[in-house]
Amino acid sequence: MRVLVALGGNAMTGPDGSARPEDQIAAAEVAMASVADLVAEGADVVLTHGNGPQVGNLLVKNEISANVVPPVPLDWCGAQTQGTLGFILLNALERALVSRGVQRQAAAVVTRTLVDRHDSAFDEPTKPIGRYLSRADAEVLMQHGQTFEERGAKGWRRLVASPQPLEILDAGVVATLADCGYLVVANGGGGIPVVRGDDGTLHGVEAVIDKDLGAALLARCVAADRLLIATDVDAAILRYGKPDAEPIAEVTVDTMRKYAEEGHFARGSMGPKVEAICRFVEASGKPGVITSLTNIVPGVRGETGTIVVPRS
Ligand code: ADP
Ligand code: MG
Repeated sequence: MRVLVALGGNAMTGPDGSARPEDQIAAAEVAMASVADLVAEGADVVLTHGNGPQVGNLLVKNEISANVVPPVPLDWCGAQTQGTLGFILLNALERALVSRGVQRQAAAVVTRTLVDRHDSAFDEPTKPIGRYLSRADAEVLMQHGQTFEERGAKGWRRLVASPQPLEILDAGVVATLADCGYLVVANGGGGIPVVRGDDGTLHGVEAVIDKDLGAALLARCVAADRLLIATDVDAAILRYGKPDAEPIAEVTVDTMRKYAEEGHFARGSMGPKVEAICRFVEASGKPGVITSLTNIVPGVRGETGTIVVPRS
């Protein structure tokens, strides 16, 4: 059984979103305990992860130190967080495996995700990133071509494009490592977004890819038997936040798509997870699971969480 586990923000930051190194290491240790339990059951695991708070912090450093060290582009921030988070996840995973007496090698791979430079997302950036700025600070950056949105009392926030992931260019390496028995961490933050120019060469772009949509693509590339999206809720919920809210257990992909159309899943959070799971199930004919980090093992067994299955 090969499982692609996509880790959300709660796997790499403190419960209150704190992102000091010790908070990130502590969160990774909790997350890797669940992953090691899955590995101990004999599963092949490929991990991917979000990077929103970490990239946000790098952008702040960019701004504050711009007069001292050259700011780096957003795709570089993506690459840097794949490296750092890959490193802390490997350390935590290896420690959790040792304490369970499990001998498995792990590796982290920096991966690039191809997007279409004509993707309509580039015409209308929608993904908020980084910290809130004053109007004056935002105006300086807008003169440099960035897009900002006024968000009420909190101030102005940068918006970037979130194009569709088309191909994970380094997926072959990930699949080869997994086939050789490695546990692999890859495609963090949905992958470093790159576009192909007219001359065929690749270039990084100022964009962010949804990590769950990237996970769905990676799951197919490594022929995963399950895509499990591990987040901070036990299941996707109908009528979320309402008095008659109801968790979704096993459901067909067609019904899940109908729920999505009815607007049950928020756009910036549960929506992309549901879309990612549906894409994976439709393309692979294998189940997809949305559950909490601590329920990874029963989730893979189909005992808990939202289990999306192909047409019954
Ligand atoms: P992650 O950091 O794991 O990617 P997100 O914060 O993006 O997680 O998404 C998980 C959040 O989605 C939950 O904490 C919940 O607040 C929100 N959410 C929105 N709609 C729903 C829904 N219908 N069912 C469950 N959670 C939902
Ligand atoms: Mg979150």
